[in-house]
Amino acid sequence: MCDIIHKMTNKQNTTLSDQIANLEFFDKVPNVDVPLSATGLGISKWDFRFLRLAREWARNSKDPSTKVGAALVSPDKLRVALGYNGFPRDMPDDAALYLNREEKYSRIIHAEKNAKNNALRMGIMDLTGWTIYVWPLASCDRCFIEIADSGVQRFVSPILSPELQERWAPILMKTKKYAIEMGRTIDEVNFPTTFPKESE
Ligand SMILES: [Zn+2]
Repeated sequence: MCDIIHKMTNKQNTTLSDQIANLEFFDKVPNVDVPLSATGLGISKWDFRFLRLAREWARNSKDPSTKVGAALVSPDKLRVALGYNGFPRDMPDDAALYLNREEKYSRIIHAEKNAKNNALRMGIMDLTGWTIYVWPLASCDRCFIEIADSGVQRFVSPILSPELQERWAPILMKTKKYAIEMGRTIDEVNFPTTFPKESE
């Protein structure tokens, strides 16, 4: 696996608007992966392992178009809450409803929110300092706000794949802006965005 990491460190002496302008600049440059790290802490083997875990959990989703997995991980890496995009647990997980766009968007809970709900089910109320791993793409603006508001500090996901750029780049731009505003870290990692074969 190619473990190249793209990261950018926020400088203390730049203003918020400077940082956002930098993001906008990089977003307009084709074929340049920009990423985003506010801490400069680096990506570890743990990051890849938890990304693989999030990817594995995404297999549970019945959404035929986008299967997303999320893993919330405590700072000591001992506690993990998992989620994938799907309907609420008390709602019939009818595959046909996923084919109806209106029905699907009305019912579905994103992977990050499900991971948070599962943390709550385990009695974990405080996610201060936790990390969330989301596969195959970074959190949408709404999930980011909610998860960041729970105290989660770091958001790790694969670099946005070319196939997802058109639909998701504008949304992730908002996420990146909010991360700067809220002092959260987004690490985008060069990590596969498709499922490996089951045997792997
Ligand atoms: Zn979302």
